[in-house]
Amino acid sequence: MSDAREVLELDVVFVGAGPASLAGAYHLGKLVEQHNETADEPLEPMIAILEKGAEIGAHALSGAVVDPRALQELMPDDWQDAPFESIVTEEQFFWMTENRALSLPVPPPLKNKGKYVASLGKLCKWLAPKIEELGIDVLCEFPAAHALVEDGDDGPRVYGVRTGDRGLDHDGKPKSNHEPGVDIHAQVVVLGEGPRGTLAKQLEPKLGLTDGRNPQVYAIGLKEIWQLPEGRIQPGYVAHSAGWPLDSRTFGGGFIYGMEDNLAIVGLVVGLDYENPLLDPHGLFQKMKTNPHLRELLDGGTMQYYGAKAIPEGGWWAMPQSHAPGVLLTGDTAGVINGQKLKGIHLGMKSGMLAAETIFEGLKKNDLGPAQLATYQHRIENSWVKEELWPARNFHQAFEKGNLAGFLQAGLGMVTGGRGWGIHNRLHNEPGHARMHKLTNGRSYAPTEVAFDGELTFDKLQNVYNSGASHEEDQPVHLLVADTELCVTQCAEEFDNPCVRFCPAAVYEIVDEPSHATGKRLQINASNCVHCKTCDIMDPYEVITWVPPEGGGGPNYGKM
Ligand code: SF4
Repeated sequence: MSDAREVLELDVVFVGAGPASLAGAYHLGKLVEQHNETADEPLEPMIAILEKGAEIGAHALSGAVVDPRALQELMPDDWQDAPFESIVTEEQFFWMTENRALSLPVPPPLKNKGKYVASLGKLCKWLAPKIEELGIDVLCEFPAAHALVEDGDDGPRVYGVRTGDRGLDHDGKPKSNHEPGVDIHAQVVVLGEGPRGTLAKQLEPKLGLTDGRNPQVYAIGLKEIWQLPEGRIQPGYVAHSAGWPLDSRTFGGGFIYGMEDNLAIVGLVVGLDYENPLLDPHGLFQKMKTNPHLRELLDGGTMQYYGAKAIPEGGWWAMPQSHAPGVLLTGDTAGVINGQKLKGIHLGMKSGMLAAETIFEGLKKNDLGPAQLATYQHRIENSWVKEELWPARNFHQAFEKGNLAGFLQAGLGMVTGGRGWGIHNRLHNEPGHARMHKLTNGRSYAPTEVAFDGELTFDKLQNVYNSGASHEEDQPVHLLVADTELCVTQCAEEFDNPCVRFCPAAVYEIVDEPSHATGKRLQINASNCVHCKTCDIMDPYEVITWVPPEGGGGPNYGKM
């Protein structure tokens, strides 16, 4: 046991080992390597990636159909060695009802010719050793818990991160194996924490990163991988769907992708700006599989893996400011996702590469001050990141008025360069949690009803088992609920505790508590958590804060 906090001095620290950070670190390492081949004064920056998961890829989750564009730029000679499942071979689009799957022409944004079905976990695992070969440290089980900020001449400046403590008990007291987190000082912190990042959330108000932006809106993506009978699905098969089981006011849709070895990905995306407080995204996903088309596909198969994760859907106008003194934002943290095409991995990777070019130029000039880091925004604006995101800039906002309005806007957007209806370039939107209706408004809402049979449909606990989620049991709860009294009083009355439904891992439960006036209390089953961030996003009172648990805890998505 040691109580002394170690300090590590680096030049660049990437937070989170998703595709954005991995591409960024690799690109930076390569730029430095190429520079040093001919330079009189070689550059020797100290660079590291911090990852909260037990291994690279453990917390990486996406559909995924990958546009290889960024990977082709990153590794022109090696990109085809990437562990893709298959190039897309066949595409379908379905309009779903409870009993039918009507095949329709594939909408242009969902055409995936030349793209690849992939496991993001496998892709990340493949990239990590290539980065280590460049002398960059990849440090797993190191969750970045706090941003280190100081007052500088130009206002607040990020000068590093503090990783989470290990060895604290449930009450936060040190155990015999206690090790305080490490302070990692760096000239630049590159945030690639994924959606609703912990450090990004801390920094946004301090640095004004979201001032003047549309509020970010998210969806939750839920996914299972199934082992199917031989020949049932071909690698590279890609199907998307709209309609049932989502109602006409709820954004989202389903997907089926064929992997190698008779594995199939089945998933559902549900907008985290839904109105019905009784809606249960996990229940809807399970229900979707009872459509005869899916039932027939999955019949005789076995569900192997499960995962869930938030997706930033707000598009160009919801992207936070991408830079501030000492910090750059990349990937899902920067909101670089094309919601219309259901793609973000290539955009995330490209944002990481643009961050790397910004840093490399600063290293050569020995200037990583605010003006140099601000050039990152120009790089984004002058790259294909903006070229791709700009025509989809108003895509998600119109779905606030219902799916029909959303589809109309999407169609209009395609012929007006993304402007859509109206004379303004920019449509605004509300934050998703603010759109949930109160049960006290006199209207009636349908609960998500589905029976779990353990073969086709699974309850949350069964699915959590298949996510591989595990945490050290004796540690502080990493879901911080600022006001648990609210849960059993106002929230119970107004929303019937939506956390028990929107959490896809049965973390939140309202249980009997005879000593409380209401007879109830909130119980948090933190070890079930799959780190999807939905509760931090969708809680209508914004009293839930997700913080990183002890390093290594969480799901195991290596094959997802
Ligand atoms: Fe997701 Fe929150 Fe549930 Fe964890 S507790 S699985 S972050 S909704």
